[in-house]
Amino acid sequence: MEILNNPWPSPALPGIDHLVPSLRLQSTSGSFEILPGSQQRMYICGITPYDATHLGHAATYLTFDLINRYTRLSGGSMHFVENITDIDEPLLVRAERDGTDWQSLAQKETDLFAADMAALRILAPEWFVPATQVMDLVDLAITEMAKNGFVYSLEGDFYFRTKDLLADLPYSEEECLRIFGERGGDPDRVGKEHPLDPVLWIAHKEGEPGWESSHGFGRPGWHIECAVISLRYLLGEDFLAGDATRTSLIDIQGGGSDLIFPHHFMSAIQVKAITGQQFARGYVHTGMIGLDGEKMSKSKGNLVFVSKLLNDGVDPVVIRFALLRDHYAADRMWSHELLAAAESDVARIRFALSRNEVAPTSAVVAEIVGALSENLDTPQAIVALFSWVDATESGLVGGSAGELARALDSVLGLAF
Ligand code: ZN
Repeated sequence: MEILNNPWPSPALPGIDHLVPSLRLQSTSGSFEILPGSQQRMYICGITPYDATHLGHAATYLTFDLINRYTRLSGGSMHFVENITDIDEPLLVRAERDGTDWQSLAQKETDLFAADMAALRILAPEWFVPATQVMDLVDLAITEMAKNGFVYSLEGDFYFRTKDLLADLPYSEEECLRIFGERGGDPDRVGKEHPLDPVLWIAHKEGEPGWESSHGFGRPGWHIECAVISLRYLLGEDFLAGDATRTSLIDIQGGGSDLIFPHHFMSAIQVKAITGQQFARGYVHTGMIGLDGEKMSKSKGNLVFVSKLLNDGVDPVVIRFALLRDHYAADRMWSHELLAAAESDVARIRFALSRNEVAPTSAVVAEIVGALSENLDTPQAIVALFSWVDATESGLVGGSAGELARALDSVLGLAF
């Protein structure tokens, strides 16, 4: 796996003629704003490439794509970095089960992910960074944290000392302990200073891959990987020093709501331990997607894969539209009916846009942008779009279909 710059072809942003107001986004601790024309730094947690992109992934990357588009349309810039967790327990387990080597599995699934993202018209990150390519930086960061008093060893493994940094836990400590145990943590390991301490460096185990480091031959824990990749690729080579010009080192850390704890919490406090500074200005999380009333998960075997839908001939604009119907932060359900409804809605919008005479478009473009500016209110944007479709169908004239089509393409990534 290699570090890639613009890993898949990004669609062009046609631009809009309307004023783009500040974007208000909801963070785990209140709301924050992205000002028009500002320079932003965004880090999104990428996939562990042991399986294909499912709709939950698609919904997550689509959400941050809206933020990326919006920021650029406002005249600002978005430095956007995404990682690939190409070394982790689930990847090794799946490779073993399938009798393949973990590197080829990771490469195959990453290629498929990039193809899915391109089909869904997600703007590519500036840097797409596999964890296996930053082992030297992880080593440097652990050394720096150790200097600052945040590292201890336990039977050859190295742990992060959370003790002084647990003030802002997102849930009660009891709840955090339970979730930590379910999501890769080891709260019950004997000898740890605090049950919530996450592992930073895992000593080599027979049959597993490993890397040389000043903490012995082994592999990194999960959270340190994102802490290091975000700092190095958003701040530059001198990342251990932080950035004294800013209160928070980056603007947005994002991912699914299942990453709130422990992953985003732990990577943020590790960044603090390395640099002494606050990590992100906002932590933005997307809801989970279920299928037909049940949670979608690999253990239930009910994941809906983007590549499968595309292979079945579903138009990518329909998938994108279906995912935009509900608010990004809400947990929601996917169903065959939802897809069918999106198909007929898209057909109706296309037909309206293809008419010679259409209802006035300037106000609806402003309404769509306004809805997005309020924490990406895509359901409201779609309501506005359908009032325009209704008006066009009832014979109102005076608009420019081209203007609206360009705006839908730029703001929502929907190319009708
Ligand atoms: Zn991450």
